[in-house]
Amino acid sequence: MTNTPAAAPTDRSADLAAGLARVRTRIADACAAAGRDPGEVTMIAVTKTYPASDVVALVGLGATEVGENRDQEAAAKAAEVAAAGVTPRWHFVGQLQRNKAKSVVRYADVVHSVDSVRLARALDRAAAERDRPLEVLLQVSIDGALGRGGALPGSTDLDAGLDPVAEVVAGADGLRLGGLMAVAPLGWEPDRAFARLAEVAAGFRAQHPQATLVSAGMSGDLESAIRYGATHVRVGSALLGMRPTLR
Ligand SMILES: *Cc1c(COP(=O)(O)O)cnc(C)c1O
Repeated sequence: MTNTPAAAPTDRSADLAAGLARVRTRIADACAAAGRDPGEVTMIAVTKTYPASDVVALVGLGATEVGENRDQEAAAKAAEVAAAGVTPRWHFVGQLQRNKAKSVVRYADVVHSVDSVRLARALDRAAAERDRPLEVLLQVSIDGALGRGGALPGSTDLDAGLDPVAEVVAGADGLRLGGLMAVAPLGWEPDRAFARLAEVAAGFRAQHPQATLVSAGMSGDLESAIRYGATHVRVGSALLGMRPTLR
C-alpha cells in the first residue's frame, strides 16, 4: 500500500457523468416549472466534434439518443460506435444536402432537418433500402428567413413551404412524419421563438395528428423550449463541453 493521494477526477467519463447529471436536473426543473412530466422530454446528446468514445461513454451512462450535424463525421462515428457493440438512436440534426441522403439513411433513425420537397423525395428514395421507415421532422423557419434551413408555414412553394413538404413526407412509404424541429433565430428571445413554434406546431397537428414531436431547445435555451412544449431537446456543449470550433 502506498500513500499516493487519489488522482484528481480527470477521467472523461466522470466529466460526462457530471454533465449528464446537470442537464438532467435542468430538464427536470424546467418540466416541474412548466407542470410537465419529465418523461415527455427526451434529451438528444449532440456529439458533433467529439469522438466515438464519448458516445460510447454517454450510452454507458444511460443516454439513448445521439445527434450529429454533418454526414461525413456522423457516418464514420456511427460505424465506430456500432463496432464497439453500442447502439444508440442516431438523430441527424444539421442541414442536409440531397446528395447525402443515401449515406444518412444508412445510420440515422431520425432526420430533424427536412425542409423541402426535393430533400424529402431524395430521402424517401434512399430509404427504400431500409427495413423500417425513416422518421422525419420538418424544420421550421421561425423568422421566415431562408438559407439557414427551415420551411415556411403558410407557403405553398415546393422548395420553401412547410405544407408541401409535409404532404410528401406523410405520403411517402419510406418516411414517417414525426413532427417539427426549429432553432431559435439569432437575436430572438427564446420565449418568443418557441411560442411561435408552439403555435405553428398546434396548427400542424390539426392537419397531421400523428406528428406530435417538437424538437427545440439547445444548451442555452432548453428551459424556454420545454416551457413551450418541446418533446426533444438537443444538447451539446452543456453536456460535453465547449466545442473547439464554432459550428
Ligand atoms: C450543435 C447543435 C445543437 C447543440 O448545440 P449546443 O448549443 O451545443 O447545445 C443543437 N441543434 C443543432 C441543430 C446543432 O447543430
